[in-house]
Order: sequence, then C-alpha cells, then structure tokens
Amino acid sequence: MSTVAVWHRADLRTADNAALAAAASALDGEADAVVPLFVVDPHYYGEDGLACDSRLRFLHECLLDLDRQYEALGSSLTLLRGDTQRRLRRVLDSGGVDRLLVNRHPTSRRGKAVADEVLNWAATDAVADDGLRYVENRHRDGTVAVDTREGWREECEAYFEGEPTSRPASLPSNPVDSDTTIEAIEDEFDVTPAKHDVPEGGTLAGNARLSTFLEGIRDYPGSVAPPAAAADGTTRLSPYLAFGALSPRQVYRRLHEEAPACRGREMVVSRLFWNRHYHQKLADWPGWTQRSVNPVFRGLFLDQHDPDLDRAWRTGQTGFPMVDAAMRALVETGWLNFRMRALVATFYVYVLKQWWKRGADFMYAHLIDADAAINYTQWQSQCNLTGVHPVRVYDPAKQAREYDPDGAFIREYVPELAPLPDEQLPRPEKTPEHIQQECGVDIGTDYPRPVVDYEQEAAEARRLYSDLADRAREAIREGSRVWRRASLSRRRRSQTDTESSTGQTQLDDF
Ligand SMILES: Cc1cc2nc3c(=O)[nH]c(=O)nc-3n(C[C@H](O)[C@H](O)[C@H](O)COP(=O)(O)OP(=O)(O)OC[C@H]3O[C@@H](n4cnc5c(N)ncnc54)[C@H](O)[C@@H]3O)c2cc1C
Repeated sequence: MSTVAVWHRADLRTADNAALAAAASALDGEADAVVPLFVVDPHYYGEDGLACDSRLRFLHECLLDLDRQYEALGSSLTLLRGDTQRRLRRVLDSGGVDRLLVNRHPTSRRGKAVADEVLNWAATDAVADDGLRYVENRHRDGTVAVDTREGWREECEAYFEGEPTSRPASLPSNPVDSDTTIEAIEDEFDVTPAKHDVPEGGTLAGNARLSTFLEGIRDYPGSVAPPAAAADGTTRLSPYLAFGALSPRQVYRRLHEEAPACRGREMVVSRLFWNRHYHQKLADWPGWTQRSVNPVFRGLFLDQHDPDLDRAWRTGQTGFPMVDAAMRALVETGWLNFRMRALVATFYVYVLKQWWKRGADFMYAHLIDADAAINYTQWQSQCNLTGVHPVRVYDPAKQAREYDPDGAFIREYVPELAPLPDEQLPRPEKTPEHIQQECGVDIGTDYPRPVVDYEQEAAEARRLYSDLADRAREAIREGSRVWRRASLSRRRRSQTDTESSTGQTQLDDF
C-alpha cells in the first residue's frame, strides 16, 4: 500500500479539485493514505516574492479555511516550510509519501522553474482540468510550437459546462505532520497587513461574497466602469480565483444555477472566459512577466527611468487626481477595477514614459488578487507592447468627468481636494485663485501641479508608436513565433476596443 500526496498551489479548495479527486479514487486501489500539503516557501516572503503583507494574510486565511475543509473530511492540511523543491524531495525521499499529485497551473519565473523540476520527477503526476491547453512542443525560448487557439473557445466552453469534480465524502487521517503553523509563519516573517477593506480569504468567504453579488447582479453592467460603484458592484471574486479558493467553473455554475438570465450574468461569464484566455497566454509563453512580447518594444523607456516621476506615480502625487486616487486606492486597499488599472498602467508607460515592468511589478506586489497570468499580460496589452492593440492613451481628466462625475472616488482617496467644487476635480490646477481661497485649497502646496504636460506627452507617445507600427506588425505577422507567443484570441477587435466601451469583450469574440 502507498501514500499519495496532493500538492496544493493555486487550488486552495477541496471541491472541483481534480488532483484531490484522483488521490481519493486511489484509495480504492493502490493507496491507503492521502496527504494534502502546502509548502510555505520563504522566497515568497522576501523582496522577490512581490507580495504585500495583506496578500500574505489573505493566503494564510485561505490555508486556514482549507485546513478546516480537510478536518470536516476527517483529514488535515500539512504545512511544510522551506524551499519548495527541496522540501517536496525530502518528503518523498523520507518514504512518507510515494506519489505526488498536482493540478496543472500556468506559472512563470521561480514558480515555473520549481514546477518544471517537480513535474519531471517519476513520482509526480500532473492533472489538467481547468479549460487550458498545456503543450509540451516548444521552441527553445519557451514559446509553444503549435497553434493553441484553434478550437480553443469550444474546449474552454466544454470545461465550464462540464461537471465539477466532487469533493471526497471523507478521507483517512493525514499521517504527515506539519513543520509549522500559520501563526509561527506570521511571527517569523513579521506579517503586518497595512491595507484596509481587504476581504477575508477562503472558500467560505468567497462563496458568501458570490451570494451577495448574485442578489444585485442586475446592477453589474452599470457598476463595472465607475471606480466608486465598482468597489461593491463587481463580483470582487478575483482574489478567490487567483488563489483557487473558488474555481472559475464553480463560479460559472453558480451564476447559471442561481442568477436570472440577464446582461449582468452574460458580462460576468464573458469575464470568466477572459480569465482563462489570459491564463492560456502565460501557458503559451512564460516570458510575459519578464520581457515585452513583441521584440520591437523590448526595453522601451528603460533608459528614461526618472525616479521622481516613478515616485510620484507610486505615491499618488502626479497632480492628475484620477490617477492619484487610483494609485492610493491600490496601495491602501489592494484592489482597483479594470478601468482604473488600465488608466494607471497606460499613464505610467504612455504619459510618464517609464519602463512597463517596474510599474507592473509594483502593481503586482500590491494587488490582493495578483495573478501573474493576468497582470503582466494586461499591462503589455494595454500599453501595446504586442504591436496589435490600439494605442489608447486614457485622458485622466476625461476619465474623471465620465466615471467620477460627483468626485466620490477622488474625494475618498485624495481628501486634500475634497473641498473643491465637482467641476474643478478633473483638473484642479485650473481652479481660479479665488475659488482656491474660498475652499482653502492651495494647488501647488496642498496638492501638486501636474508633473508632466498630458497633451504633449500623449501626442509624443502616439507619434512614437506610429513610427514603430510597421516593424511591430511585421514582427507579429500571423504564423510567426511572436504571434504564437502572444497567444492572440480570435476575437473581433472592432467591437470592443473603443474607450467608451468597458474595454472588455464578449464570449463570442474568442
Ligand atoms: C493592468 C491590469 C492588471 C490586471 N491585473 C490583474 C491581476 O493581477 N489579477 C486579476 O485577477 N485581474 C487583473 N486584471 C483584470 C481585472 O481588472 C480584474 O480581474 C478585476 O478588476 C477584478 O475585480 P472583480 O473580481 O470584481 O472583477 P469582475 O468584473 O467581477 O470579473 C469577474 C472575474 O472575471 C475575471 N476578469 C475580469 N476582467 C478581466 C480581465 N480584463 N482579464 C482577465 N480576467 C478578467 C477575473 O477573474 C474577475 O475576478 C488586471 C487588469 C489590468 C488592466
């Protein structure tokens, strides 16, 4: 008889978990014990981990919740502490575990190097049940050598429509002890969450959030774009999906079983497909987190690093209130709606002319829902490092007028501007002197003047990208390696890429 371990990574749940279901069915044959385990790797607690303490706390809550789920089944979660690869090897070599089961998941950087090694071991079996295609046939630079997009939408739809794997009815007790506890880890790494309004982690909390959202799903279409309305009006499921406390399919199922057929439901479903689409991109080319996908844009603005502009952006002191409110919201709460993420990313690259990766890493470090597969690919798409996306330079003042007309978002995060009348908030530097005096706000002292000239910088960005457009298109011509690496969907671009749209697309467009 043997012992089968389930190595949890971004699948912190017991239902719709194919690796766990496979381990449970092994109990009918070769196995007599199952070891659910998670490795707490110090690498993710240091600088390279790019994870703020609030995200670490969210992860810890997911792990505590996962342990409770296992306890209800008669088992428990083993926490191992150390370098992931070495710690897993040790548990196999000690004879405590004979076989390692793991759900496939697109990763990059260190996570990928570790997973590549562990998945190569004879004792490891990887299970894929997430709607994605995992292709072994690759070029030396990691790009898939085949077209993963042919028939992709149908296969992904089949995943969503398929029956989720059920949670085992019970499990035998777990024979492998933990090395550590969540409490000890929080002490050791001095995890001190500084953000406010961060949701609680775990499957239970994720399902509760989904229940609340479903009650108001008809309001979703009107809540997506305005940042103040989005804070309560979108699903807010992203961190649960990122850590796998819920699977995309579980959310899809509940939407279909419990929500009325309405525009809100359609829109959320299309976004779940977006989630899968971006994960397919990382599965097709793990380099997305490191280098621009189109070589023509590689290193763009790298030598123009301006620490003052960079700092102004990070701290929300650019003098553009919509950008500053969004950056402060990101740092204070770890969440932004799609439109504000797109605004601050494009502002960083097109307007401030800073190298995209510094900004993308900063956002990744602060997001509670940080997902390498979405964050870096979105940055590159929004900033057209692909060569196929439109150069959409959002005007922060126009965004404020259209999506924050009563100034609720700006006033919440840039309180020093709160006394100004609504109409001055998009461009406070244009407020007449006497109004500044009446309101007791001195622009230039209480709040900075714009750090750059928006119109001039936007025009220059458009000129620069237009000069590079032919070379960029040539590099990404259909069938080329760069084209495969970009993992482009078959969507109909014209319907979606206008600034007035939500910036998202529909299911039929894949
Ligand atoms: C520059 C940039 C960086 C981003 N980084 C991340 C990230 O690290 N993690 C992350 O989960 N999302 C990221 N997004 C996508 C999107 O902004 C968030 O998924 C969304 O705001 C999360 O809030 P929600 O769960 O309430 O979304 P909802 O509007 O309720 O959508 C439901 C779910 O659909 C998926 N989804 C929605 N929009 C997108 C999208 N554009 N691309 C892919 N999936 C989507 C998410 O899983 C989301 O939870 C990024 C977008 C941009 C422009």
